[in-house]
Amino acid sequence: MDIKKVVIIGSGTMGSGIAAQVVNAGIPVSLLDLPSKQGSRNQIAEDAKKRILKSRPPLLIEKNRIELISAGNTEDDFILIGKADWVVEAVVEQINIKKDIYKKIENIRKQDSIISSNTSTIPLKVLSADMSDEMKKDFCITHFFNPVRYMGLLEIVTEPINDKEKINLL
Ligand code: NAD
Repeated sequence: MDIKKVVIIGSGTMGSGIAAQVVNAGIPVSLLDLPSKQGSRNQIAEDAKKRILKSRPPLLIEKNRIELISAGNTEDDFILIGKADWVVEAVVEQINIKKDIYKKIENIRKQDSIISSNTSTIPLKVLSADMSDEMKKDFCITHFFNPVRYMGLLEIVTEPINDKEKINLL
C-alpha cells in the first residue's frame, strides 16, 4: 500500500504541524477543522495554513508546499475521508470528542486505510474500545511532538491486533 492522500482532523498546533510535515514529503493533505460560524466555513483551517506560512522556524521546507494543503471543515468535507489512505486525528484531548470522530470515520473510511490519533495521554485501548476488530486492526497512535518538523521522533503505539506490515509502512 502507498500513502498518496492524507486527511488530518484538527488544525491546531499539532494538526497544522503534521500537515506541514506530510506535504514536506510531497503528499497532499486535506486539513479539516470545525466549521467556522463567521466568515468562510473553512476559516479555522484556512487560518492554520496562514500560521504554517508564518511559522518560525519554518514548518515547510519550501513555501509553495502550502498549495498541497487544502483547508476544509468536518461537516462539509468529511466525505474526503473515504478517499484517504491515512487519517490522522489531532483534535482536542477529550475522549468523547475523539470517539465520536472515530465512529464517523469507521462508517466512511476506505477499506484498509490507516487511522491514527496524536493523543499524548489517552491509552490506545481506551480510544479503540468501541471499534470493530476491522477498524482496530488499522488504528494506532502516531504521537508527533511539537514542532513536528524539528522534533526528530515519532512515537507509534500499537496493540497485538494491529497489522504489522501497515505499521512498519508508517
Ligand atoms: P489545539 O488546541 O492546538 O488544536 C485542537 C484543534 O482541534 C482546534 O483547532 C479545534 O478547533 C479542533 N477541534 C476540536 N474539536 C473538533 C472536532 N470535533 N472536529 C474537528 N476539529 C476539532 O491542540 P493540539 O495541541 O494541536 O493537540 C491536538 C492533539 O495532539 C491532542 O490530542 C494533544 O494531546 C496532542 N499533542 C499535543 C502536543 C502539543 O505540544 N501541543 C504534543 C503532542 C501531542
